[in-house]
Amino acid sequence: MSEDLFLKIIDREIPAEIVHEDDEVIAFRDINPKAPLHVLIVPKKRIRTINDISEDDEKVVGKLFSVARQIAGQEGYSDEGYRVVMNCNAAAGQTVFHIHLHLLAGRAFTWPPG
Ligand code: 5GP
Repeated sequence: MSEDLFLKIIDREIPAEIVHEDDEVIAFRDINPKAPLHVLIVPKKRIRTINDISEDDEKVVGKLFSVARQIAGQEGYSDEGYRVVMNCNAAAGQTVFHIHLHLLAGRAFTWPPG
């Protein structure tokens, strides 16, 4: 068993409600949603934090945003709007050390974020 929670989801060792999967990226609903739509978009390659993103990763990191746009559209939030967030390390609230883009929609979001 992997110690990386999201690798366990990728490997189907633990269940998740998957909404998108391709060779490089998987996306699934957050287990503790903070908005009516809360999906995590995750590269299959393990990258621990934003600090660990290399030049070689630029394509897949860009793809996280393309998948977010697609899912937001499928779920009907393109025009209303949505938020994407990636936390880096403890002070920002990162709890799973495998980068992931949060896609949140379906309510009004405040700015600045908490
Ligand atoms: P972070 O705090 O690292 O930015 O985000 C981690 C996210 O993973 C949290 O929103 C949390 O609710 C979610 N999460 C933690 N464990 C699981 C799990 O087992 N399944 C799913 N689908 N989401 C999880």
